[in-house]
Amino acid sequence: MLSPPDSTRSSRLHVAIVGGGITGVTLALGLLKRGIDFTIYERASGIKEIGAGVGFSPNAEEALKALDPRVHQAYKNVATPNGEDYFQWIDGYGSGEVIYKLYVGEQGFQGCRRSAFIEELAKLLPAENIRFSKEIDSIVDDGESKVELKFKDGTRETTDIGKSTRIAIGCDGIRSRVRDILVGKDYAASYTHKFCFRGLVPMEKAYEHVSRYRASTRFMYNGPNAHSITYPVGEFLNVLLVVSDPEPWQAPGGKHTAFGPKDAAVKAFEDWQPSARGIVDLLPNDLDKWAVFDMLEHPAPYYARGSVAIAGDAAHATGPHLGAGAGFGMEDALALVGLLEAVDRRLSPTFATTKALFPDGGPNGGGGQSSSKPATKSELVHKALAAYQDIRYERTQWLIKATREASEMFQWQYEPVGNDPVKFGEEITRRFYQIWNYDVHGMVRDALEDFHGRIGS
Ligand SMILES: Cc1cc2nc3c(=O)[nH]c(=O)nc-3n(C[C@H](O)[C@H](O)[C@H](O)COP(=O)(O)OP(=O)(O)OC[C@H]3O[C@@H](n4cnc5c(N)ncnc54)[C@H](O)[C@@H]3O)c2cc1C
Repeated sequence: MLSPPDSTRSSRLHVAIVGGGITGVTLALGLLKRGIDFTIYERASGIKEIGAGVGFSPNAEEALKALDPRVHQAYKNVATPNGEDYFQWIDGYGSGEVIYKLYVGEQGFQGCRRSAFIEELAKLLPAENIRFSKEIDSIVDDGESKVELKFKDGTRETTDIGKSTRIAIGCDGIRSRVRDILVGKDYAASYTHKFCFRGLVPMEKAYEHVSRYRASTRFMYNGPNAHSITYPVGEFLNVLLVVSDPEPWQAPGGKHTAFGPKDAAVKAFEDWQPSARGIVDLLPNDLDKWAVFDMLEHPAPYYARGSVAIAGDAAHATGPHLGAGAGFGMEDALALVGLLEAVDRRLSPTFATTKALFPDGGPNGGGGQSSSKPATKSELVHKALAAYQDIRYERTQWLIKATREASEMFQWQYEPVGNDPVKFGEEITRRFYQIWNYDVHGMVRDALEDFHGRIGS
């Protein structure tokens, strides 16, 4: 287990977090809890989220609790209770009936407004730990003790806070600049040939097309080449329509969004059951179309080198279809804080004293290091980040593929399943359970064991 915070000590590490989205902010709050110094550098002028609803699965909730129970509480403060604790799928094209339902746990996988969640998290962040309007341009890691951040406005990190940064974590999203710097520009997200429309519909309006029961909990409508999902978010129904698109994505400036209009969705759902068509009618005509990009075709070959790492969408951007991208960013954050806390502890004066008194190991097993030459500060950091990348790589890369497959299943394009509800139930359950039933505490334990093996203690 992670140790309680020690707010009296001064941190021996400084973590520069590039990007104040869900991954960056949850990482920051986990570090704050453990008394490790950090600064968030955010390109925008504030901590804010665009988009409609978001939901967090059980693994994500466990990661939030382990980062800091206050962070988990922040989510629960804004989460909407489930009408029923099931995720249900409807054959939106054929029968219009429920074909499968999956228990999500008691009040599990609740939805909330993205903006409300991030605002709640931001309340926990000390203002002095955030720099806004700071867009990262380059990072120079001298391989020893210093990592220097340069920003587009010409400033450097050292001039801002008067000390060198020893670790930089890129949490700067799907079009990550830190990823470009770390692994090169060849590893960018590409179009999955699916786009979506999304919006929050006032409940009273939603009831015109959706029963009160269906609006009270999580439903998905499956069918050929499209699917939709609805769940409640406060006084609104969160609506997401996802449409297959054989064409290449073309938007001015390489953007991932473009003006709709909704016609493409109307056409995609036109032969569907009235209940599924009604969902389309809920959204206004003038909408932004969001292209779904992911990193399946050009995966980042690694997530860390030296004192620089990437996390969340910056490392492993995936489609939204399994509702797990942000949750995996929180898992990354937990792995990072567990490892950086271990580095911080080894750098503490108490650790050095214990080592002098008990060269073969302290009374708590935290004392000696078997190798004659103690690891330097930068070696400790490098090995911790290497352990981070090893514990996170396989699972996060798996999610990208599983998400693609799931979206194909929802749209009857996945050959092993077709539109067979029994096979669908088996296949989708397997994927969700792999996401939801992950032991985040075991992840931290394994990462720490790996780290200690690397430093020979
Ligand atoms: C429609 C949809 C529905 C989804 N639903 C769910 C769900 O229900 N559950 C779930 O777990 N996940 C869901 N996801 C995925 C989830 O939204 C993302 O995985 C998550 O938001 C990624 O967070 P992040 O902090 O890693 O990146 P981002 O949210 O992209 O944040 C990156 C931050 O970095 C900043 N930044 C970017 N570049 C720079 C720079 N050069 N310098 C400084 N700052 C920079 C940005 O301004 C931004 O604040 C969904 C995604 C979509 C599209």
